Amino acid sequence: MQNDLQHSPSVASITGLIHHPYTPPAGFEAPQPGVFKASTVYFPTVADMRQREWKDKSAYTYGLHGTPTTYLLEERLCALEGGLQCMLVPSGLAALALVALAVLKTGDEVLIPDNAYGPNKALADGELRHFGITHRFYDPMDPQDLSRQITDRTRLVWLEAPGSVSMEFPDLPEMVRRCRERGVLCALDNTWGAGLAFQPFDLLADGAAGEGSLAVDISAHALTKYPSGGGDVLMGSVITRDAALHLQIKLCHMRLGLGVAANDAETVLRSLPSIALRYAAHDQTARALAAWWQTQPQCAQLMHPAFEGAPGHAHWQALCERVPGRGLAAGLFSVMIDARFSQSQVDAFCDGLKLFKIGYSWGGPVSLVVPYNIASMRQAWPGHLKPGTLVRFSTGLESAQDLILDLHQSAKAHLPMA
Ligand SMILES: *Cc1c(COP(=O)(O)O)cnc(C)c1O
Repeated sequence: MQNDLQHSPSVASITGLIHHPYTPPAGFEAPQPGVFKASTVYFPTVADMRQREWKDKSAYTYGLHGTPTTYLLEERLCALEGGLQCMLVPSGLAALALVALAVLKTGDEVLIPDNAYGPNKALADGELRHFGITHRFYDPMDPQDLSRQITDRTRLVWLEAPGSVSMEFPDLPEMVRRCRERGVLCALDNTWGAGLAFQPFDLLADGAAGEGSLAVDISAHALTKYPSGGGDVLMGSVITRDAALHLQIKLCHMRLGLGVAANDAETVLRSLPSIALRYAAHDQTARALAAWWQTQPQCAQLMHPAFEGAPGHAHWQALCERVPGRGLAAGLFSVMIDARFSQSQVDAFCDGLKLFKIGYSWGGPVSLVVPYNIASMRQAWPGHLKPGTLVRFSTGLESAQDLILDLHQSAKAHLPMA
């Protein structure tokens, strides 16, 4: 049977299923971008293959080094966070690890806030320590303590606003200023702010991102949370505004073989247009629930940065509330359940919730609850925290009223005040 690949592949030809001459017309446009998948990427000639440049995103060389889908997501995430360059990685934790591995070497020291995302501390105490990279934990609420701990070996300072679980909001601009003074790189875990509550590369909100204004060097973001918004994707990003620093991160990224799946990138692209609306909704619901907790006798302390009396509230106001009353604050807060209740009573309260699911992570449509043992997570019990059992809530997109009814029924059953 005649089988001319160039002109008329036979319907019976399996080769024709692979080398098919049909090309759909160009110019297709629709709300969502196309999804490009590849390990292999073709070059028209060997010469082209040899000279093709991948580092500046002007072309394609290999799936791991970028596709139209990942380039597009990177650029949109830069727009979200006010950055210029972005790398995608398979999880938020991988973003933190990439930053550490890209900028630290044997003999260096990294400073981490004592209330940081736990696995970031574990990475420092595990692989980084094994590589001869030391770490110290600083008090996130004491800029003096940060300054004191910076030495000539300090190469990287991690920042997080607010801290995971206990939700203290640090004086972020002051912390960045102190890193700047000492010439130390500062990287922010920007998962909570998500590029919406404040601008990591324009902390003084004077519109002068990067040079001239106050900016972090690196923003790492667990896209798993609000950018995904579905509880169904794991991904992270590392955003910068410095070409040399970005290249250092990019080369490390390449050598480590990190990449993300096209369908996951597509899911995040699908969710990004609604992130601001979802973030505001999560925020509003969290505030309604937090306000309810404030009226409950079982609540010894409320940890929500937008509430008066919460640790670092004034810092949150200064950074996020440029228009008074209009600041944003994510859908996350913690409650210290009074010490008169045992751990098992608090556990039973969490188990007794019907709408709140028990599970890690946040940012999806379903509200989540997790009790934490703060004593095991910190160097020492922080002086500003009341005694008790900490429960962290992350609000989904359910109705606030239904969620409050749920809290009410389980508190009544398991945290009796009598
Ligand atoms: C969830 C989270 C991470 C890690 O994200 P994963 O995608 O789950 O690895 C890092 N930092 C913060 C603050 C987070 O909340």
